[in-house]
Amino acid sequence: MVSEIIEKADKIYRKNFPMETWFERAIFFSWYCAIRNCKFCYMSTQPRKKDPVKARRKESSLLAELILCKKLGWRLGFISGGLGAFETIEFEKILKDMHKITNEKMWLNIGAVDEEKIKKFLPYVKGLVGSIETINKKIHNFICPSKPIEKYEMMFEIAGKYGLKKAMTIIIGLGETIKDYSKLKEFIEKHNIEKIHFYGLNPQKGTIFENADPPSVEYQAEWIARTRIDFPKIDIQCGIWKDRTDYIPLLLKAGANSISKYPITRYFASKSAHEIEDYSKKAGRAFKGTLTKIPENINWDKEVNNLDLDKEIKEKVRKKLKQYLKKMKNNVKEWENKK
Ligand code: SF4
Repeated sequence: MVSEIIEKADKIYRKNFPMETWFERAIFFSWYCAIRNCKFCYMSTQPRKKDPVKARRKESSLLAELILCKKLGWRLGFISGGLGAFETIEFEKILKDMHKITNEKMWLNIGAVDEEKIKKFLPYVKGLVGSIETINKKIHNFICPSKPIEKYEMMFEIAGKYGLKKAMTIIIGLGETIKDYSKLKEFIEKHNIEKIHFYGLNPQKGTIFENADPPSVEYQAEWIARTRIDFPKIDIQCGIWKDRTDYIPLLLKAGANSISKYPITRYFASKSAHEIEDYSKKAGRAFKGTLTKIPENINWDKEVNNLDLDKEIKEKVRKKLKQYLKKMKNNVKEWENKK
């Protein structure tokens, strides 16, 4: 019975973690991907001719978002973006600047990185994320023809050599069944995975999943619960889309630590942002950080002034931060007016 498995997982979670949760932000640096053929992915619907330089996000925008993360208590899930968007040297510089804001090493999710790149990124990176997506090999080969699991396994081997942590992503609803869980268990054990992101399929227009149903909350929860039972200390993140906030209580009860995937900069203080906080509390978890209020005591200018960056980039970050805050403050006002 799924409910019994979830009850068991809940007990294990309570023994191993405080009753709290938080939001984790994945920072995306580009809308370009050299592969563009994973069959569930929005990128696969994008024109082949897309220019990698034009599809990049500006560094100032990335840095401004990191300041928001830091001050509003959104923890950093990982840094990600389509493969091939930056040259290694450019990306190294961006990581260095990001690290100046986070003051802590970051998770990196940029495909199966080779040893040369890993060595370059080491000062700024605490761990590597493998976008495994589905553990069922047959489905994986069909869904992600250009990113074989073996390449990620090689990356994990190298990560281990340099003392880096290892994490993986799984998308529930790509055609796997719960019978595949045993393969996931083996994979986590084999590679000593310390963190796992369980997303639910978000059917994208123009892909083969366009008319597919997203996974039910019970099914997504079962994957989380089984993982929690077998790996009491593993860090589990559950992906929540804005139309699935009602999944939160069961996914947290199943043993997830944190919540991600929600497009927070756009929907800050919206109805669904309030729901995330409320549902987390209903699940008995204190919600760390805020998705709905901008603390008044933050001197945003001072935050930018204190950055150890060139004057020119600082001014760009200041401008971008203002834009983000303006939108977020408008959202707060709209919410207040609706009450
Ligand atoms: S590699 Fe990542 S960004 Fe590129 S198509 Fe696959 S899932 Fe999408």
